[in-house]
Amino acid sequence: DGQITVSGLTKRYKNLLAVDGLSFTVQSGRVTGFLGPNGAGKTTTLRMLLNLVTPTAGTATIGGARYADLTDPVRTVGAVLEASAAHRGRTGRNHLRVLCAAAGLPDHRADDVLELVGLTPAAKRKFKGYSLGMRQRLGIAAAMLGDPKVLILDEPANGLDPEGIRWMRGFLQSLAKQGRTVLVSSHLLSEMELLADDVVIIAAGKLVRQGPVAEVLASM
Ligand code: ADP
Ligand code: ADP
Repeated sequence: DGQITVSGLTKRYKNLLAVDGLSFTVQSGRVTGFLGPNGAGKTTTLRMLLNLVTPTAGTATIGGARYADLTDPVRTVGAVLEASAAHRGRTGRNHLRVLCAAAGLPDHRADDVLELVGLTPAAKRKFKGYSLGMRQRLGIAAAMLGDPKVLILDEPANGLDPEGIRWMRGFLQSLAKQGRTVLVSSHLLSEMELLADDVVIIAAGKLVRQGPVAEVLASM
């Protein structure tokens, strides 16, 4: 399945230990929040999971394999690392169709994922007219093109209004109910309380706590 396992994961930048011997697991069928203050090492950890940053030590696996060893990465894991950037004059739909072509996925996946994130009404509008919330949804749509078992989102609620955050909550919960693994980072405890079932808390690159949100919060 899509369990994420991080084991002794470490990233050193010169004298800075951005991630320092971090170990935790993320279960499928749950939304897991990845919480820590700015600079705690969340983005670096997520980028190591996706083979975008090379660990100094330790391992990060998805469904038992390192990202680089996944036989079908597009259908295994989708990621939203920052608000979607598309060509300004391109429609949301065309943006996704270009990504489909690049990933060897059928064109109709573009329409499927637009529907999934509620962007069908804006499918034929140009990206430059999209609000921040719409750009965030387009990024999520892109991550869902391969119908992945695992979805990784870095600070997806940043800059969203309460309505956008409510939508995010319902969307991520529905993915989890389908048995997918959802890992979502934030530096705000209040967002974790809204979005997540479980939480992994880090500070200065180290694990602080891991468990169901309610339990972890009650013990703090
Ligand atoms: P977070 O996502 O929790 O805010 P980051 O993973 O972005 O944390 O950063 C962790 C620490 O590593 C920070 O001190 C940051 O400045 C530093 N850092 C991140 N990327 C690099 C890099 N490419 N080179 C040097 N330092 C980096
Ligand atoms: P990598 O993760 O492969 O080091 P990045 O694109 O993250 O590549 O960063 C490229 C360079 O930009 C880094 O080597 C570093 O010098 C600098 N850098 C990026 N992010 C940060 C950061 N948060 N703090 C300090 N330096 C950074």
